[in-house]
Amino acid sequence: MKVGIVGAGTSGLAAARTLKAAGCEVILWEKSRGPGGRVATRRHGDFTFDSGATSIAMRGMEIDKVILGELDQAELHLIDKPIWTHTGLRVSPGDKLKNATNRYTYRPGINTLGKLLAQGLDVRTEQQVETIKRNGDGFELMGEVVDALILTPPIPQTSALLWQISESRPIANARYRSCLSLMLGFSGVHIDAPYHALLEPEQRHPLTFLSLEHLKSPGRAPEGGSAFVAQMSPSYSHSNFARTTEEVLQDVLVYLHRLYPDLPATPDVVDLMRWKYSQPENVALLDNVNHAGDRLMICGDGVLAGRIESAYESGVKVARLLLQ
Ligand SMILES: Cc1cc2nc3c(=O)[nH]c(=O)nc-3n(C[C@H](O)[C@H](O)[C@H](O)COP(=O)(O)OP(=O)(O)OC[C@H]3O[C@@H](n4cnc5c(N)ncnc54)[C@H](O)[C@@H]3O)c2cc1C
Repeated sequence: MKVGIVGAGTSGLAAARTLKAAGCEVILWEKSRGPGGRVATRRHGDFTFDSGATSIAMRGMEIDKVILGELDQAELHLIDKPIWTHTGLRVSPGDKLKNATNRYTYRPGINTLGKLLAQGLDVRTEQQVETIKRNGDGFELMGEVVDALILTPPIPQTSALLWQISESRPIANARYRSCLSLMLGFSGVHIDAPYHALLEPEQRHPLTFLSLEHLKSPGRAPEGGSAFVAQMSPSYSHSNFARTTEEVLQDVLVYLHRLYPDLPATPDVVDLMRWKYSQPENVALLDNVNHAGDRLMICGDGVLAGRIESAYESGVKVARLLLQ
């Protein structure tokens, strides 16, 4: 069986690995420059920021075995500091039970995961799939004919591809939050803390998650420096999505200076990632959307849950359905 996969994020790569192990021929088309999707990293000089997902939690799912058993572990980093919480910028120790979960990233950046998962697969990067046609029982796209197709982009983008082949699936209730993710690098000041990240669980404060990248993993900032990723709340991100980097920076700096008064007035490095579809707030159900015998499958976090391990699980599940 020859299978085409649109998107080489975690779910697409999981599906591809499962199908390849079962002897299928698999092609992945990915619109970005590399694999990994929202498990993404940005580099600026000596600064490294995980700009999308910030860590991989081990929760006893398929991905644990893959990361700890199959993939190269040379760059894998177990994050030793916990996540604490803040309420209106007042900081307190985090939930002990939640912090008992092992969390990982990779020293060169969390996007190493995508690179490792993609090894040995036919991933065609910088290839955005815009047109899909039916071809007999199969499909035609990007000059190839495939027996089966797996769509992995966030559901609103998958939905646009489905219209082209007049295919309808029960996915209308999948909705995503947007997220502004601001990266800030400071060369001259090393902020130390007993935590590697701060979470605002109620998502009422604009600063919903702050990662201190230099405390999360070695090598994320130059010696004596600090690297932060500020993820803004869904309501802040929605209302301010079109604002400039400078405008968002001014808001974030107010919060950072309240938390860390020693920080210089301006960072040396600033970058803003605008995630239109960051994580689903409501998902479609994988088992309602896909059935054994279908030649078209839909996977990704939009049919399970907005986490790396769920995206991986969804890819494995649809690949197994296809193999049935
Ligand atoms: C800011 C942020 C913070 C997060 N924090 C965490 C966290 O700490 N822990 C956690 O577990 N999860 C976190 N997540 C969620 C996690 O990143 C996602 O759930 C997971 O990566 C989704 O994987 P996926 O394969 O479903 O989708 P994606 O990773 O989005 O993969 C889909 C791929 O399809 C490609 N694509 C789309 N359209 C096309 C097309 N037409 N043609 C070709 N390619 C296409 C995209 O470029 C992308 O690579 C976070 C996400 C964000 C954005």
